[in-house]
Amino acid sequence: NKQVILKHFIDGAPKESDMVVKTSSISLKVEPGSNGVVVKNLYLSCDPYIGSRMKKFEHPDFSSFKPDSPLEGFGVAKVVDSGHPDFKKGDLVWGTVGWEEYSVIENPEKLFKIHHTDVPLSYYTGILGMPGITAWAGFYEVAAPKKGEYVFVSAAAGAVGQLVGQFAKLMGCYVVGSAGSKEKVEILKNKLGFDDAFNYKKENDLDAALKRCFPEGIDIYFDNVGGKMLDAVLLNMRLKGRIAVCGMISQYNLSQHEGVHNLMNTLIKRIRMEGFVVFDYFPQYSKFLEVVLPLIREGKIVYLEDITEGLENAPAALVGLYSGRNIGKQVVLVARE
Ligand code: NDP
Repeated sequence: NKQVILKHFIDGAPKESDMVVKTSSISLKVEPGSNGVVVKNLYLSCDPYIGSRMKKFEHPDFSSFKPDSPLEGFGVAKVVDSGHPDFKKGDLVWGTVGWEEYSVIENPEKLFKIHHTDVPLSYYTGILGMPGITAWAGFYEVAAPKKGEYVFVSAAAGAVGQLVGQFAKLMGCYVVGSAGSKEKVEILKNKLGFDDAFNYKKENDLDAALKRCFPEGIDIYFDNVGGKMLDAVLLNMRLKGRIAVCGMISQYNLSQHEGVHNLMNTLIKRIRMEGFVVFDYFPQYSKFLEVVLPLIREGKIVYLEDITEGLENAPAALVGLYSGRNIGKQVVLVARE
């Protein structure tokens, strides 16, 4: 069983050398009397929180990985043996698995069964999985959008951001995205339907860039990055604006977080700034599927994926998230069905 093992706790951004790919043996049969399942992993999802779990840290929603053990994350898998009455050999599932070819899942109740296979299976790591629910809940529930509002999304060409922008367009909003390369900016404008986009790495003055894109200000900021961008956005929010705090990737690998200076605008402009965590919305998964599956089938939404082949290339794929190497959702193909 090939596995991606964490060598040691890290400081700062993950490097490929913090992980090693090793092979060990595994039984593909569940232990007699066990309620667990054994799965063959097909796709693994690279998500920014995985790098955080490589650090020694305290977090209410998840724990640090253990050195000398495989990483974990969301994945799409096929059941190869089951001791659980709700799962049988051949079932397709998504949920938390190890970064390895085969995983033993002791509590399969947390896995979601995949019933719809007319869409790519890899979508269950992205648009139909955790990042999809994040975009849906963060935009519709937290940001509470109205038709015609001005929406800004950072990390807009990523797993979550590309969906937020498309949801906002479907809602009749004006949408601008920021991303870290010329190629991503072109994709936002030409493939994902954003009204405008800019490369934040090429802007000396983020406040000026936002004023150029939003002469009348921003109603909704879907924040994926925090830091300097959040500070500049605060200067450009409209009265009664909402900031959905989804992520702050620019801060995750800093030993000291950058200060935000323009918070007084939340008072003056009556802004609601609200963080959210996707796990709170997992119980609404079937409602989410009812909304998003038809959008995919009817071609009203597209989803860009960046698929890396081979478990041995998973460390590089993960590391790439923190420099913006991925265009769209970063997935690792471990095995075909
Ligand atoms: P992405 O697919 O967007 O990948 C991460 C992207 O972040 C990179 O491609 C890069 O794009 C950008 N980035 C990396 N480093 C920086 C930096 N220092 N400053 C600015 N941008 C940077 O990831 P996801 O869509 O999976 O996640 C987006 C955000 O949502 C993350 O902050 C993540 O932690 C958060 N999240 C929160 C959840 C919740 O429950 N609240 C659930 C899931 C995700 P670029 O080229 O634009 O720089």
